[in-house]
Amino acid sequence: MENGKSYRAMDLKELNRSSVLQLLRKNTYSRADISSILGLSKPAVSSLVDELIQENLIMEIGFGMSTESGGKRPIMLKLNDHAGIIVALDINERWFSIALTSLSIEEIVSYRQEITINKDYRMTFEEIVEHIRRIIAEAQDMGYHQPVLACGVSLKGLVNTKEGTLQYSSSIPVWTDIPVRDYLSESLGIPVFIENNARAITIAELMSPKSSPSEDSVLVCVNINLGIGTGVAIRNEIYRGAFDGAVTFAHTVMKDDGPLCRCGNQGCWETLASDTAFLQQLHKHNGNYASLDLPGALAKYHEGDLIVRETLLNYTGYWIGAGIANILNVLNPDHLIILGELTEAGKDLKEKIEEVAKSRALPVSRKVRISFSNMKGNISLKGAATIVLHHFFNKSYHRKIWKRAIPSELTM
Ligand SMILES: [Zn+2]
Repeated sequence: MENGKSYRAMDLKELNRSSVLQLLRKNTYSRADISSILGLSKPAVSSLVDELIQENLIMEIGFGMSTESGGKRPIMLKLNDHAGIIVALDINERWFSIALTSLSIEEIVSYRQEITINKDYRMTFEEIVEHIRRIIAEAQDMGYHQPVLACGVSLKGLVNTKEGTLQYSSSIPVWTDIPVRDYLSESLGIPVFIENNARAITIAELMSPKSSPSEDSVLVCVNINLGIGTGVAIRNEIYRGAFDGAVTFAHTVMKDDGPLCRCGNQGCWETLASDTAFLQQLHKHNGNYASLDLPGALAKYHEGDLIVRETLLNYTGYWIGAGIANILNVLNPDHLIILGELTEAGKDLKEKIEEVAKSRALPVSRKVRISFSNMKGNISLKGAATIVLHHFFNKSYHRKIWKRAIPSELTM
């Protein structure tokens, strides 16, 4: 390209290309629909659509309804969910999980194993890489020959997404400043994107086909698990803070004489409101509950066990709600989503959390919509896959990922 003008024209084309892809990710549309929604000329849409069909990224799926004026029935288009394969990797202090997914984050194959944390991170990651290679080979044997696009990694702790490093994790304190992205990218030969676990989940909620956040939306995701992860998106962008350390509500102190936290303080939110805290509290009530894990405790809750019910609603539910009240006062979000296995307890827990949070928050923050997530299964792994999707539909990364993955005669 010889001049700035052609660069700008290229940029615009890339932007339109990702807009068309994003649109067809959420729904089916005709060429005329795309042209009117995006405000692009019909010939421009036609040429983009031809290019995307040629590359096998979108497909025609039959005829839609004719228009009111009785015109010809339009051909409908949708994203080809199976144009490529995403590798998702989730790592925590207990295990690592790997999944291969389609572009609609549907799992093709997955694997989970207990993790051995070596001080030399390479020893741990070498093993993980072997399993990823094995799973890709397995999928190929099953008939999945689509290009492997990229790998998304979800990690607990402080993640520097620009540098691709895990800076520090209180869950895995022997790893500091480790170059996760570069190590995996060199070993696997594909682009790798890494993100903090709670932020990855927040991106997954933002990109959910059902989500339609407004321009001014402030979304908070609270992931209750062994600890508590929190992610914030302001106007559809993840809020990272000045040093990539935002946001960590888990370690706000809620009770001066509360349980000792792994961060060294006492009474942090996660020592009162996490799954771990719930199980510890149950154990305190009754020694017979010492061997219960979370699925076991939830099963007892659904059977109507009164001690489990009392603990879940009036201890865990109370503390989750009290912590959320602080978040509401600080961030004044319009939507707050709670995630994690604990949400399987259902309506009564949600109502208790909402009642405590709203009664303690200032009136201006009570308009918030509090909901339990619709995401089920391994949500951290889904978050990891969505990081790839997020970059794939972003104009700055789309070509880098796609051009590498498909035969060059197909890309223009
Ligand atoms: Zn703490």
